[in-house]
Formats: sequence, C-alpha cells, structure tokens
Amino acid sequence: MEVDPILLAKDTEICRNCTNVVVGKGNLNADILFVGEAPGNREDLEGLPFVGAAGKNLDKLLTNVGLSLEDIYVTNILKCRPPENRDPLIEEVEKHTPWLLRQVEEIKPKIVCSLGNYATKFFLANGKVSEMTSQPGITSVHGKVKWVEINGKKIKLIPLFHPAAIIYNRSLLGEWEKDMEIVKGEVSQRGLF
Ligand code: URA
Repeated sequence: MEVDPILLAKDTEICRNCTNVVVGKGNLNADILFVGEAPGNREDLEGLPFVGAAGKNLDKLLTNVGLSLEDIYVTNILKCRPPENRDPLIEEVEKHTPWLLRQVEEIKPKIVCSLGNYATKFFLANGKVSEMTSQPGITSVHGKVKWVEINGKKIKLIPLFHPAAIIYNRSLLGEWEKDMEIVKGEVSQRGLF
C-alpha cells in the first residue's frame, strides 16, 4: 500500500522539531508553480513560504513582471525548516518530495519555476531523488526552458536563481529579469492570462 506522503514527511526530525509545517501559498488553480528549497526562520514561525527576506525579494521581483499570488502557487522541496537553515539532507528530500509530487498532481501547473539548485535538480531529475546529484547546477541552466516528466505528465520547467541569492549577489538581478521575460513569454504564448 502506498504510504501517505504527508505522514512520510512528518516522520522526519525536522518536522518533529519545527514550529509550523509550511505547505504553500497562492492560487491552487494557478498555471505556474514556484518551488524553493526549504522554510527559513520567518516561514517556520508564520507557517507560510517566502515571507522572510528572500520572500520580500520574491514579491518585489514578481511585482516587477506583473505577477501576483493570484497567478502562482509557491511551495518548497522541504516542508519544514532544517536547523540553522542548513542544506537539506538526502533522506529529508526523499521523505518530503512525495508531498511535493502530490501537490504537482493536484495543482496541475503548466509551468514550474524552480528557485535555486535543489528544486532545479529535483525537477531536472524528473522527480527522482537518486538522480539529482548528476544534474547540472542552476548557473548553467537558469532561464532555459526544459521539458520534464512528473507523474507521467510533461511539464515545462524554467529554472531561476533563488531570490535569496539575488539579495547577496546583485549582479544576478539582470539575469533574473531576463529569465522572467522567458517565463512571461511562455505564459503569454499559452494565453494563461
Ligand atoms: N527560502 C526558500 O527556499 N523557501 C522559503 O520558503 C523561504 C526561503
């Protein structure tokens, strides 16, 4: 019998120790799904993704291109905050991503925008955690449209730099803006708005 993906995620140390499980926010009927890495301190306290510094930056970056939470849904690879915001462990990714796959199945996005390395490698590996390490990193694939297959369905993946990386490296802002033009092009091509 298939294990409930929510119970599987909850059976991890980070879930037992977090303040709030962070599931997602935005429009569950959206055509665009943004996927980050893991909740940080603010997200853990509020129970919502991208509400801290990286989130404020994401809001600004989205507003600049005319997108709002009405148009997208936002979630993460991990649903609970790793201590001290350390990188996700492989077993955490294994136990948390079935929940993400369930979200993809329910939301049925036309486009997934992966934010940063973890989400990008997960989708480039077509959701197979064991194949993540052999995937190219965000620096070489950002802004490139890739077809991936998730739960047997083809989805367009557009990898983007993580909004936290843009805070620390302002030179990435121009790259993000160019990449978002690609996202907007895909969106308008499909008449999603
Ligand atoms: N960084 C992420 O990847 N996700 C969040 O929810 C917040 C910061």
